[in-house]
Amino acid sequence: MQTEKISWLNFNPVMRLQALPSIHKTLLLAGGLLIGATILWPSSQEFSPQRVPLSLDVESILTQPAPITAPLIKHPSFVRTIEPGDTLSALFAKAGVDQQTMYKVLEADLDVLALDTLMPGNRISFWQDEQGNLSKLELYFNAARQVVFSRYPEGGYEVNEINIPGDWQDRIISGGIQGSFYRSAEKVGLSAAEIQRVEMLLKDKLNFARDLRAGDSFSVLLNDQYVAGESTGVSRILGVSINMGRSHVTAFQNSDGNFYDENGQSLVRAFQRFPLLKQYRVSSAFNPHRHHPVTGRIAPHNGTDFATPVGTKVVATGDGVVTLVTNHPYAGKYIVIEHDSKYTTRYLHLSKALVHKGQRVSRGDVIALSGATGRITGPHLHYEFHINGHAVNPMTAKIPMAGHLAGSEKHSFEQLVASRKHMMNLG
Ligand SMILES: [Zn+2]
Repeated sequence: MQTEKISWLNFNPVMRLQALPSIHKTLLLAGGLLIGATILWPSSQEFSPQRVPLSLDVESILTQPAPITAPLIKHPSFVRTIEPGDTLSALFAKAGVDQQTMYKVLEADLDVLALDTLMPGNRISFWQDEQGNLSKLELYFNAARQVVFSRYPEGGYEVNEINIPGDWQDRIISGGIQGSFYRSAEKVGLSAAEIQRVEMLLKDKLNFARDLRAGDSFSVLLNDQYVAGESTGVSRILGVSINMGRSHVTAFQNSDGNFYDENGQSLVRAFQRFPLLKQYRVSSAFNPHRHHPVTGRIAPHNGTDFATPVGTKVVATGDGVVTLVTNHPYAGKYIVIEHDSKYTTRYLHLSKALVHKGQRVSRGDVIALSGATGRITGPHLHYEFHINGHAVNPMTAKIPMAGHLAGSEKHSFEQLVASRKHMMNLG
């Protein structure tokens, strides 16, 4: 049934917290690294990847034996399911791994920033050799996503993301409005994150606080991910229809991954190219093949660096929701914004965040002041743009501009809308 090319979701589970009081946590580098900022979220049922590379060769992962870093060690020496209140420092201490090693792992994590996304219910496993060195560390987010750190023979760690496409199954959720949209949608089984994504998608078309009346109805077509029959908790929205008596609004995801209304008008709002109010010199360009000056290994530069003095205003490049505000010993104070299921931006080395997790922001909003936090040689803003979880060059990437579908694109979109409307009993 699922014939379109799968376009990856990368909404962040922390969006689920949006409806809750904002949680604005700071990692205490000296006092123990608090895992993520998501630790208070009680559910272990649902989690989703922060980043999913597009070009993953899953066949080779599934058919080739995993690289053996330490042939004699088959079982992890320490395994722990993350619980609220856990800190990285405490976990490493319990595993008998020293803080110096933890910092080496965090250094490798700079390319992925996966440790910050650990949540209760996720699993962390340590493998140690006879000398007690950490040979491997695995973060298990769900059946579809793991991040593995493997020790280089001479020390230091390599990071690998494992992302399994899995199988996707459709799910339709319909209901009537009684009270707020949030309450009405929650009652029929939409999660906080899914509700927020529906509201974000249609925010220019509908005022959810004012326009809905008792008796109005809604229908949402979702697509849920499974790996070997196990739900990963990752889902994406394929279609939304909200009916208000005489009028209705719709959103459908096209095969290009972007959302349009049923007439093919884009619902993706345009981005601006630069995360700053005025132009600053690019001090280091995006470079996926950059070599580390010391080790000579590939150390990708996943963003664009701007030579901003400390205190320069940083702006959101598009409308979205702040999904993470945190500190990292190498990335410094940083902010992550999710713009819809497809686009994410990150702003690193800040001196001060002016937004909190869960906050909605608009393109051009000042979200932070730049700084020199983390391990860097001088003040700058490091800006990343991710499409489907994959870092792209923010200066040259095709970023969405408001538009509409035409010609054969529109024709195939209309067919897709017709079949989804049929599934959603919308005639
Ligand atoms: Zn940089």
